[in-house]
Amino acid sequence: MGIAGQVVEAVWSVVGPGPVALHEPRFAGREWDYLRECLDSTYVSSVGPFVERFERELAAFTGSRYAVVVVNGTAALHVALRLAGVQPGDEVLVPALTFVATAAAVTYCGAVPHFVDCEERTLGLDPVAVREYLRNTTDMREGRCVNRRTGRVIRAIVPMHTFGHPVDIDRVMALGEDFGLVVVEDAAESLGSTVGGRHTGTFGALGTLSFNGNKTLTTGGGGAILTDDEALARHARHLVTTAKVPHGWAYSHDEIGYNYRLPNLNAALGCAQLEQLPAFLDAKRLLFERYRRAFAAVPGVQIVAEPAGCRSNYWLQTLLLDESLAAERDAILTRTNEAGFGTRPAWELMHRLTPYASSPKMPLPVAEALARRVINLPSSAWLAMDEAS
Ligand SMILES: *Cc1c(COP(=O)(O)O)cnc(C)c1O
Repeated sequence: MGIAGQVVEAVWSVVGPGPVALHEPRFAGREWDYLRECLDSTYVSSVGPFVERFERELAAFTGSRYAVVVVNGTAALHVALRLAGVQPGDEVLVPALTFVATAAAVTYCGAVPHFVDCEERTLGLDPVAVREYLRNTTDMREGRCVNRRTGRVIRAIVPMHTFGHPVDIDRVMALGEDFGLVVVEDAAESLGSTVGGRHTGTFGALGTLSFNGNKTLTTGGGGAILTDDEALARHARHLVTTAKVPHGWAYSHDEIGYNYRLPNLNAALGCAQLEQLPAFLDAKRLLFERYRRAFAAVPGVQIVAEPAGCRSNYWLQTLLLDESLAAERDAILTRTNEAGFGTRPAWELMHRLTPYASSPKMPLPVAEALARRVINLPSSAWLAMDEAS
């Protein structure tokens, strides 16, 4: 049997007969109770007890001192980058292998994403290669990292924890320190993932989460900004509520803010989902083990495991093809989807997207190779839930 047929069989052996989507939410907790409570209270919009509770519980779960919830993960990134001091005309280092939101949020700030390479071990940005690149292409001027070719300040770096696998965050933090870059972690995919026991998104000055419908936990749409800095948290909350000066009845705004606050209705869903998060994480880990076993006998492929010293949430299960099978990727995607299994390739790399075609970038050999070789497999927690719970 060809490789495509072998992949179909292995997926079937883990998830059963299709159709099985790439990722689906599960609402088996107190969602209906909390939503009813929210509706009965009439506090459905951006003020209400579930918003505060969800923030408190997210902070407790992640170990972040503060969590500020917003309408989606992209908005969280936008505000986090603004709070990091990203200004029009700056550059921000972003992995070439990411969802477009990471780059778009930089553009929203009037800044330019500067794409950097990844490492195969973590699927995230490669701090060793980036350090070497910065050493050769930038100058430090008054504590600022300046791109020698464009003359622009490189203000920040946005590591992203790909498919839930933690990036080499200690080395990224050291890089930020040495080159004067603010670290903003895009932890949209890594709720529940830790490095040395510490939650992703809590290493950088700011971190962001997403609760989109396809993420590990969903509020329909939603996101959060994590920070340990009280002033940043206060400013984040102010910016996402239109920068309205608190007052009983007067409407005054002291800067340009955004209407990004998460509605109470969505936060109610979030509180119910958060109660199930440990069970979701157990199930995703179990699903990973099953895929690993099922694919052990398939030559030329491997299931991506969490990096050493890390705990991954296994948001999306990832099949990595050997380079010799890269040419078969589209046949595998076609066959698995025809069989009813929701598989997909990695995102199109950022520097290949029309709006970013002229953005600065370092050589990207590993991101290019990963983009040819990655296939995400059906990953919903419920696929391994009944046994896990
Ligand atoms: C999901 C995601 C986001 C945020 O997405 P929203 O849909 O706006 O919540 C940002 N970055 C990455 C890498 C993501 O996967």
